[in-house]
Amino acid sequence: MKPTYEQSAAAKLAHDIRESAEKFDGVRRFMEVCGTHTMAIHSSGIRSLLPENIALVSGPGCPVCVTEKSFIDEAVLMARGYDAALATFGDLIRVPGAMGSLASHRAEGGDVRVIYSPADSLAIAAQIAPKPLIFLGVGFETTTPTIAATVKIAKEQSINNFFVLTAFKTIHPALKALAGKSDLHGFLLPGHVSAILGVTCYDYLVTDFHKPGVVVGFEALDILLAVKNLSDMVVSDDPRIINGYKTVVREEGNPTARALVDEVFRPTDAAWRGLGVIPKSGLGFTELYRAFDARERFPVTPPESKDDPRCRCAAIITGSKTPDTCALFGKECTPEEPVGPCMVSSEGTCAAYYKYGAL
Ligand code: SF4
Repeated sequence: MKPTYEQSAAAKLAHDIRESAEKFDGVRRFMEVCGTHTMAIHSSGIRSLLPENIALVSGPGCPVCVTEKSFIDEAVLMARGYDAALATFGDLIRVPGAMGSLASHRAEGGDVRVIYSPADSLAIAAQIAPKPLIFLGVGFETTTPTIAATVKIAKEQSINNFFVLTAFKTIHPALKALAGKSDLHGFLLPGHVSAILGVTCYDYLVTDFHKPGVVVGFEALDILLAVKNLSDMVVSDDPRIINGYKTVVREEGNPTARALVDEVFRPTDAAWRGLGVIPKSGLGFTELYRAFDARERFPVTPPESKDDPRCRCAAIITGSKTPDTCALFGKECTPEEPVGPCMVSSEGTCAAYYKYGAL
């Protein structure tokens, strides 16, 4: 059968990548920072097309995976202690905390609503008033503008039983923490996040770390082209930041969305699974919006975050290990019975390996 255009283009790119990779000695490891890229890479079988001396490794871009266990416990304690309802995106519902998951809290009679858009939580808040509704705010720069907009609407409409428990993360501090690793040689930069942040904001990868980056979309051909660009830049020792997703990402990003986030949230220190506390890598409320801060309104003391010592999630999301090195993978830890968040999240690396195999 005649190959499709995509198959021919993929074969040509794979050939060009192999040719490029023949020009350097040793293995070059490129990190896909974004969880959506992890799934796209595994579902399309891209890794099977790459030469042995190019490895794609996962990064910290799966928001559920980098969120510490204590966040789930904090939410459950708030709900129990203050008779509050919880609203969350579906990915979080089965993430295990030390005291169980949101799903088990719901099974015990807790009020947990799965929503598809932050705006849904305002409608729920109106229905259940005066009972408080706590929205679990997890995500990166792609998510925070819509949540900031929701908080702003809540303020304008004086919806005073709506609160947000924040565990937002910002990508630059984590990327800076990883960029110095000598076994990472380039970065596939997140497409959706870059639509908000732009392209020039990644220049520090080149100026401070002498490493290349390519902002890339989620189609297999786009990712292959980005890998070729990274490989070529390694060969020429000419690191740059390339925008490979020009249909969506503008050089300057989306200043309006960033201004909205800056109005509602301010940088705070944040704990990342695998990376520890990174200064100014999270978001809390600005003074103007602090009335919506669930942490301030419903103080609780969650147990210290302790992952199952056998779980390798922390090493996996920093590119140091792959899921098949975890003794629990596919045995005690499966998507049906997850031990760690990398298996729960639809963007988790363990879930991707389980669903699509190692290649
Ligand atoms: Fe953790 Fe499960 Fe992944 Fe092992 S397979 S690292 S236990 S999430």
